[in-house]
Amino acid sequence: NIFKDGLSKTRDAFVEKVGDLILRRKKIDEEFYEELEEILIGADVGVNTVMKLIEELRAEVRKRKIEEASELQPILSEKLVGLLKSEEDTSLKLPESGLAIILFIGVNGVGKTTTIGKMAHRFKQQGKKVLLAAGDTFRAGAIEQLEVWGQRVGVDVIRQQSGSDPAAVMFDAVHAAKQRGVDILLCDTAGRLQNKVNLMEELNKIYRVIRREVPDAPHEVLLVLDATTGQNALQQAKLFDEKTGLTGIVLTKLDSTAKGGIVIAIRQELGVPVKFVGLGEKMDDLQQFDSEQFVHALFA
Ligand code: GDP
Repeated sequence: NIFKDGLSKTRDAFVEKVGDLILRRKKIDEEFYEELEEILIGADVGVNTVMKLIEELRAEVRKRKIEEASELQPILSEKLVGLLKSEEDTSLKLPESGLAIILFIGVNGVGKTTTIGKMAHRFKQQGKKVLLAAGDTFRAGAIEQLEVWGQRVGVDVIRQQSGSDPAAVMFDAVHAAKQRGVDILLCDTAGRLQNKVNLMEELNKIYRVIRREVPDAPHEVLLVLDATTGQNALQQAKLFDEKTGLTGIVLTKLDSTAKGGIVIAIRQELGVPVKFVGLGEKMDDLQQFDSEQFVHALFA
């Protein structure tokens, strides 16, 4: 299972608690549901989602006339997969031919640069020609850090000076990409999400520049969120809606949290799929999300 190692913290915390609860209470009664609710909320699954999940469990338990707590675990897995699966489509929607452009957005420190590096590695391994655009001209060190990843992975980075206009960097990058016959251009952007108006202005300017050259681009706009920030990540994500063109989420640092339930909260509370998850700091530690494998890794 591709998620097994990366989810060990969540698995240890969650499965241990659920297992302990089952052993201790034996019967499914009100106290059982209450404790299960606490465990799920503690894993960052999100209060609304937990309520919904418990209701579904109750209905299923009634329907199947189950009394033993030990029989609940497969039903719980099934329900979790069900929650995650709703309209799941985690594949990247990129054009069959011609230049594909992916934009990455997210606040500083969430793992945006690392994710771009990992994604570049992933595409390179698939035999694609990749180019990076250093569009985060705001944060000190962001450009250099992207260059370090570029060298590590073996792909070029288009950059300007720190403080320059990100839209100008994108203009250069799209031109360079076309000239060099690049398949995939991965664009970093500045992490100023605090103010939605500024963010939209900056994104719109970037979109305009890109679309002048590649009309249906950007093909993906991925919001990078840090799983260890739990419900804060959810709040950040809620700043976004269709108007920002968001097409998917990359949830990083799942390996560093015992609260991997945040994947479920995000899936439930936002209309945008989690497409990739980060499970470590190395180039290979990025996986396309798969709800069945995810839930199975939790109970494995
Ligand atoms: P940015 O400011 O959003 O570009 O964030 P960085 O890419 O610089 O990442 C911030 C820190 O998080 C770095 O120390 C990364 O190594 C680390 N990081 C990023 N992704 C992951 C992940 O999936 N797992 C773990 N454990 N660390 C990560």
